[in-house]
Amino acid sequence: MLEKDPKDPEIVLLGQHPVETTEQTFASLKLSEPVLQSITRVGFEHPTPIQLEVIPPALEGKDIIGLAQTGSGKTAAFVLPIAERLLHGKGLRGLILCPTREIALQTKAFLDLFGKHHNLHTVCVIGGVSMGPQIRDLQNNPDIIVATPGRLVDHMERGNVKLDHIEELVLDEADHMLDLGFLPQMLGILKAVPRERHTMMFSATMPFAIEKLARQFLQEPIRIDILPKGKAAEGITHRLYLVEQKDKNKCLLGLLNQELGTTLVFTRMKRDADWICQVLEKEGHPVDKIHSDRSQKERTDALQGFREGEHRILVATDIASRGIDVPGIQHIVNFNIPEAVEEYIHRAGRTARAGALGLVSTIATWMDKPMIQSIEKALDKPLPRCTVPGVEPYVEIKVRPAGRAGRRVR
Ligand code: AMP
Repeated sequence: MLEKDPKDPEIVLLGQHPVETTEQTFASLKLSEPVLQSITRVGFEHPTPIQLEVIPPALEGKDIIGLAQTGSGKTAAFVLPIAERLLHGKGLRGLILCPTREIALQTKAFLDLFGKHHNLHTVCVIGGVSMGPQIRDLQNNPDIIVATPGRLVDHMERGNVKLDHIEELVLDEADHMLDLGFLPQMLGILKAVPRERHTMMFSATMPFAIEKLARQFLQEPIRIDILPKGKAAEGITHRLYLVEQKDKNKCLLGLLNQELGTTLVFTRMKRDADWICQVLEKEGHPVDKIHSDRSQKERTDALQGFREGEHRILVATDIASRGIDVPGIQHIVNFNIPEAVEEYIHRAGRTARAGALGLVSTIATWMDKPMIQSIEKALDKPLPRCTVPGVEPYVEIKVRPAGRAGRRVR
């Protein structure tokens, strides 16, 4: 996460994020001298694997499908080529679509920084804030828009913005835009941009719908896959709490009282996030939450408070948690099992950074068994079954070969 230096708002500081980098130099990627200087100013020394692979073909205008996760350095991978290829004052030429407000704001920060030598002017068009200032921003001749699809379509329908000169298009976290139900809006936007353009699409998973989008809207794309191959980082302890549905809440509270480090709790539903937060607050835990019903300011404050250690627990819905890049998280709790193995690996990757030890606890019920098996297959080991005092574990039935009765095991 980039942060402004309070003493000099022009200088953007790097948070303490150990990111995997390569041994190559940025200069070897054929970036221009001014851009290389801005990279040095930010403190990036070597490109990350996704930057190494994406930047050279993107500079040549090749369409790209990048399989990469938050935290891989993918934002700079697409921002740097765009900052090289676009010039100020030629009208709206760049469009970046992303699923959440946090990611949009972070992307704009990168564009402001690396687009400085071309004076690129970027505006953010995101939901959850009033339309008025955005309309004024859009009238102010931006070169690039970073947008969440819903809000951009609102502006298109009101005639506040025209996309008929877009040259550079990025679909960031495309899989999550689909999860959020943005497909109709994305299709509307894709139809409004010119056919002749440069397109880059990033996704942490490659479901069929994304393949289809890519086939339809990208031209002979280069596929770049830097996803971890089914293995979560070393140093992570995985634990599985198999319980009855009715005991999930009790199990979570037990876990949070038992493990006292910085903890990120993922829930699927907003109402679970609200409930958990309320109960933990009552019990005196320093906690905050982020989900899509919270205002931009509340979300930013919650994230900032978590990063600065003001509250040790952050409860986040799956969707809102995209883009959370906080170093030093000791404990990840999956209150709901993730819907894809990649998501489990991705969440696990938020802990145990830079050789530190980390813990991933997953609370699950019998209905989650197929996903548990898929995760165990990817990790190549069983998830150790664990229990919390006072919560009866769910009794698994091991199916014996045909002809023998099932046996209950603890
Ligand atoms: P992203 O995946 O784009 O969200 O980036 C994750 C984090 O890595 C952000 O905090 C970036 O500032 C940081 N980052 C990106 N590229 C580099 C690099 N080449 N060297 C060091 N840090 C980087």
